[in-house]
Amino acid sequence: MAKWVYLFTEGNADMRELLGGKGANLAEMTNIGLPVPQGFTITTEACTQYYNDGREINPEIQEQINAHIEKLEEITGKKFGDRENPLLVSVRSGARASMPGMMDTILNLGLNEEVVNTLAEKSGNPRWAWDCYRRFIQMYSDVVMEVGKKYFEQLIDKMKEEKGVKQDVELDANDLKVLADQFKAEYKEKIGADFPDDPKEQLMGAIKAVFRSWDNPRANVYRRDNDIPYSWGTAVNVQSMAFGNMGDDCGTGVAFTRDPATGDKGLFGEFLTNAQGEDVVAGVRTPMKIAEMEIKFPEAFEQFKDVCRILEEHYRDMQDMEFTVEHGKLYMLQTRNGKRTAQAALKIACDLVDEGMRTEEEAVKMIDPRNLDTLLHPQFDAAALKNAVPVGKGLGASPGAACGKIVFSAEDAEEWHARGEKVVLVRLETSPEDITGMKASQGILTVRGGMTSHAAVVARGMGTCCVSGCGDIAMDEENKKFTLGGKEFHEGDFLSLDGTTGNIYDGAIKTVDATIAGEFGRVMGWADKFRRLKVRTNADTPRDARKARELGAEGIGLCRTEHMFFEEDRIAAFREMICADTVEEREKALAKIEPYQEEDFFQIYEALEGCPVTIRFLDPPLHEFVPTEEADIQKLADAQGKTVEQIKTIIANLHEFNPMMGHRGCRLTVTYPEIAKMQTQAVIRAAIRIKKEHPEWTSKPEIMIPLVGELKEFKFVKNIVVATADEEIKNAGSDLEYEVGTMIEIPRACLTADAIAKEADFFCFGTNDLTQMTFGFSRDDAGKFLNAYYDTKIFENDPFAKLDRTGVGKLMEMTVQLGKPVNPSLHIGICGEHGGDPSSIEFCDEIGLDYVSCSPFRVPIARLAAAQAALK
Ligand code: PEP
Ligand code: MG
Repeated sequence: MAKWVYLFTEGNADMRELLGGKGANLAEMTNIGLPVPQGFTITTEACTQYYNDGREINPEIQEQINAHIEKLEEITGKKFGDRENPLLVSVRSGARASMPGMMDTILNLGLNEEVVNTLAEKSGNPRWAWDCYRRFIQMYSDVVMEVGKKYFEQLIDKMKEEKGVKQDVELDANDLKVLADQFKAEYKEKIGADFPDDPKEQLMGAIKAVFRSWDNPRANVYRRDNDIPYSWGTAVNVQSMAFGNMGDDCGTGVAFTRDPATGDKGLFGEFLTNAQGEDVVAGVRTPMKIAEMEIKFPEAFEQFKDVCRILEEHYRDMQDMEFTVEHGKLYMLQTRNGKRTAQAALKIACDLVDEGMRTEEEAVKMIDPRNLDTLLHPQFDAAALKNAVPVGKGLGASPGAACGKIVFSAEDAEEWHARGEKVVLVRLETSPEDITGMKASQGILTVRGGMTSHAAVVARGMGTCCVSGCGDIAMDEENKKFTLGGKEFHEGDFLSLDGTTGNIYDGAIKTVDATIAGEFGRVMGWADKFRRLKVRTNADTPRDARKARELGAEGIGLCRTEHMFFEEDRIAAFREMICADTVEEREKALAKIEPYQEEDFFQIYEALEGCPVTIRFLDPPLHEFVPTEEADIQKLADAQGKTVEQIKTIIANLHEFNPMMGHRGCRLTVTYPEIAKMQTQAVIRAAIRIKKEHPEWTSKPEIMIPLVGELKEFKFVKNIVVATADEEIKNAGSDLEYEVGTMIEIPRACLTADAIAKEADFFCFGTNDLTQMTFGFSRDDAGKFLNAYYDTKIFENDPFAKLDRTGVGKLMEMTVQLGKPVNPSLHIGICGEHGGDPSSIEFCDEIGLDYVSCSPFRVPIARLAAAQAALK
């Protein structure tokens, strides 16, 4: 018989796959003798089994759960439903990777009317007993029966109003008893049955609810964003309760061994007296700083400091802990490697190396490359900031600069974002349902809640700027306005937030790009030592090229030449070229384009300081470039000496049913060889010029032909390139060398890679098109139906963002295996979007590519991911 349940005494930290992170660490803390209320963990395999059994907990698992309840009763000397000494438990989720706030928790399970009365009597603290019961009914109704929190919150608000009090803690035992009765009545009305009294029935319901919450929408979104497989499942931890709400000598807290925002060493966290579990993170009351605990709970605080030291030394990483103090005695409820901002991650990694706790290799492995993104985004311009006067201040909960228009709900944030607006989400507090709206926002501002509130934790995880707990805001959510610093702000007004200082500014403040320095530079240096893959960039303009070089790019893997024509003054010439209907007209337009290209190429070579530069020949999906506005059509007609009607006919003839599979890439050169000729001239002329200026730079320009699917197609274009280039070189009396290679983005190119490799100097995977063509999903349209694929679990990720190793990856592997033996000097890279995705980079390392190429801001991410791949 399989073992589905483990006592905390039976597990350890290495069992996180089976027991989840929380379960494994509770076991580990038990093993090292820390004060942990005992309990047991139902395994992640049981969760998978629950789904295999059609969302049911099968009798075998139920039996083991019940047996472990009996064991727990023995260990604690308490009994489920007992009148003398009742056992109460918490039920919490805990997956292999931590997913803060994504799944559900139930506290005080085991209560019913009789047990409450016993507790009230025995403890001499009826207020506490009824507080536990009303919380339990609330959580159980919400989590297990999905009644919805708001009905209960309304009843609490009504009660507070009737009693003329502001805070929950001001309600007395009788008020809470009345509330518990009201809650039960509410439950009965919504569910049509009485609230369950039997603790075992409550427990099975709660465990089922935790398993079910693995599949809730916010958990699914979080997993997709954080690359956590659905197949992992969550474990469930059943733990005997320690009570932080038994009076003023009790409390509950959340603490980190280092500051999760800055990485500074030292205890950091919050504590709330006479409170339970979620109160600290929910932001219901603003908690006190952890240091103040020293005054209120000197003994527990001393003990807690010891525990922090032990845990940090044990895990050799910053810990995030939850604990409870019951009548002055400390209980540890959780420890895990704490989530942190990118800035803190870098500082902690460097400090741990300096403190001798970690090696450089380990430090490189500790940092989530996706997190670095935040450091690479703009910060406020120092000069602009100097002149700005804050209108208010909250807690700097998640660093970075944010500037956008105010919205008041997550739904509005999503809606405004979808129409291209930058928004700042302003809320009393956030809750897990707000996650997609938070993602759509530049920054988040909350009125309530501390550094460990939901908004703060989630924003840090997402790398979004957040200022929390600005209590000076007089909020009027209903009418979409608030007052701060004597000014009334409305929906749509601009607001700027500084997530580091917590300052809030009226209006929009100028931002500047970030740079790599200090700890960031140090970690990048380590990463560069360990990686095998080279990292290039996709850059289309000299400006992007310079930025990428600053961020450590070792070359350009893709310069999309059609992107050089988006600007107003250039697009006219480009349109003339597209809409030319004779060779002469086209050549005339191309002659206008050539100087732009040549100058851009020259500047790009210059920015790359002799590193390799791959220039891809035109691959414009034509529909993106033809004019649609009357005025533009008129302009084009004038330039070409045609009538508006003639231009419209040309545009109509250019119309394609499926432009993504249409007249693009090398097909364009097959019909219009003069385009390849002009582009070769521009590439070679610029290279000859740069060689003259910098004879010490030895790299050869790399000309890349897009969308090749057939060797003869490639050779056709290559012949034009070679003839033109050689003539240019000869005329200039230069000895310039160059390479001609191809993108690999059509499945047929993969299948015939051995033939193409004989002719090509290099391959570069265009996995955007290769994914499109392999799945047969249009890049332009897949977004419309991919959500249905996630909902039905056909896909866990967007194959356009995370490489599909099974299908697309197999084609890539085959290409490498066919190509390299035929042409040993063939170099192979990737320049589709996947070139900046850590998991895809790992695959590229595995199959032996030479380099990845990604957008400039992803270069540091790729450098780190490549190092991690090499260190695996
Ligand atoms: C690709 O297809 O992956 C690629 C890089 O080219 P583009 O996105 O320009 O089609
Ligand atoms: Mg492509």
